[in-house]
Amino acid sequence: MKLSIIPSPYETEYLTGFTKATAPVTEYDAENLPADGFELHIDGSIRIGASSLSGFFYGRQALSQIMFQCGQNIPNVHIRDIPRYTYRAFMIDSARHFTSIADIKKMIDYCAKLRFNVFHWHLTDDQGWRPEIKAFPVLTQKGAYRKGSHFGAEQNEDVYGGFYTQDEMRDIVSYAHANHMIVVPEIDMPGHVSALLSSVEGMACNGKKVEAKTTAGIFRDIICAGNDDNYDILYEILDEICDIFPDSYIHIGGDEAPKAQWKDCPVCRQRIEDEKLRNEDELQGYFINRINKYLKGKGKKVITWNESLKGGNLDEDITVQRWMDPKELSKASPNAIINSDFYRYYADYPYAMTPLKKVYEYEPQVNSNVVGVDTPIWTEYVADLEKTEYMCFPRFIAVAQTAWCKNKPAYSRFRQELTEMLPWYGFTSIADESEWDPSGVTRLPRVVKHFGSISKNKRIREFFLKK
Ligand SMILES: [Zn+2]
Repeated sequence: MKLSIIPSPYETEYLTGFTKATAPVTEYDAENLPADGFELHIDGSIRIGASSLSGFFYGRQALSQIMFQCGQNIPNVHIRDIPRYTYRAFMIDSARHFTSIADIKKMIDYCAKLRFNVFHWHLTDDQGWRPEIKAFPVLTQKGAYRKGSHFGAEQNEDVYGGFYTQDEMRDIVSYAHANHMIVVPEIDMPGHVSALLSSVEGMACNGKKVEAKTTAGIFRDIICAGNDDNYDILYEILDEICDIFPDSYIHIGGDEAPKAQWKDCPVCRQRIEDEKLRNEDELQGYFINRINKYLKGKGKKVITWNESLKGGNLDEDITVQRWMDPKELSKASPNAIINSDFYRYYADYPYAMTPLKKVYEYEPQVNSNVVGVDTPIWTEYVADLEKTEYMCFPRFIAVAQTAWCKNKPAYSRFRQELTEMLPWYGFTSIADESEWDPSGVTRLPRVVKHFGSISKNKRIREFFLKK
C-alpha cells in the first residue's frame, strides 16, 4: 500500500512487514536535520528523530496520519522529511469582520496540522481597529466600531465591532507557540487606516475628519507622511505591539495607499522637497523605511506589501509580501519575498474563481528571493468561522503542500490522498468536494452569488479575462 501523508514526505522508503500501532514511540536527536525536519522509522519499533521541537511535533503528526489510515498494523517504512520553505504562513483579517479568540485558536489548530509555522494576523484596517493600545484607549473605544456593514448580501446600519485586550493577544501568541507557530501582527499603514484616523485626530492630511468605513474598497484617507507627530504616534503604538508580539517580524502593511491626498498636502509636499524625493511613491518608501529603522532598533524585521517597492527606494532589508505583480518585482530587487499570489492564494475569492487545482499547481518561486508563502483570508465577505473554514479548506491544504513539499505529487494523486485524509483534520464546515473545481458554465453564477453583484468589481473581471 502507498501511505497518504499531507504535506507529502520528501523521501519515503517502503520496507517489508508490519509494526503494531501500539508499539512505544521513542525520540532521538537528529542534529543533521534542519529545523522542522524529521525522520520517522517504523520497522518493528517506532522512532522519531529531529533537531527541533517542531520537528518532533511534525513527526508525531505524520505518524498520527499513518495510524489513522492503517489501524492496528502499520507497514514498515522509513520517512525523511524536510521543509521546502522556512516561512509558511496563513493570514486572517480580523478587521473587516471580528474573529473571536476561540475561532482563531480553532484556525491555529487546523493550520498546525498543515505545518504552517506563521500566523499572520491582520489587525487593523479601514473598517476596524482591533488591538488594545494602552497609550491610545480611543483606538478601541472608537476605532474598533463602525456604523454599519455594507458587504454584498450583508447590508445594515448596526454598530459593528470588537477588539482584543493585550492579555487576549498574548494568549494567542502562547497558543501559537505551543503549536510551533510565530505570530506576525500587521498594523496597516499608511493606507487602510480610516479606523485609526477616526480615533486619533490630526493624523490625516489637511486636518481631515475621517470615519471608520462600512464598505469594502480602497480609500483615499491615509496617514500624512509629512507630519513628524504622526511618526511619534506610530512608534508609541508599535512599542506596545512589539511588547505583545515577541517574535521576529512586524508587518506594517503598505498596500493600496492612494496618493491623492499626499499630492494636495503642503506638509507632504514639503517633506518630499526636504528629503529630495521625486514623487509620492518615493514618499511611501521614505515612510516605510522610517518605520523600519525604528523597528530595527527594537530588534524586529519588517514586512511590507509589494506596493512599497514602487518608489524604488525601499530599504533592502525589508521583506516584501508579493500579492500582485508590479514591474518593480521583475527587476533585480534584493528584498526577500513572501509570495501571496492574488490569483491563487487569496482564499476569500470563491472556488469558481480560484479552484483547488489552480491553487495546488501554482509554483510560487517567482524569483530566487522567495523565502516563503502566505495564504490570506480577507473577510469583507466572510463573517464567521463556518464561512472561513469553507473558504480556506481545502485550499489552505494545497498551499501547505507547496510550502512544505519540494517534490509534491501530481494533482490527481493529491486529490486521492485528500479524500482519504480529510476526516483526520477534524474540519467542521469544509467546502464540499463537488465545489473544489467547478466547471465553466457554473462559475459565473457562483461568483455573483458570493459577492452579491460583480458589475463594479474590476478585479473580478480581471480574474476571468487575464488568468
Ligand atoms: Zn500630508
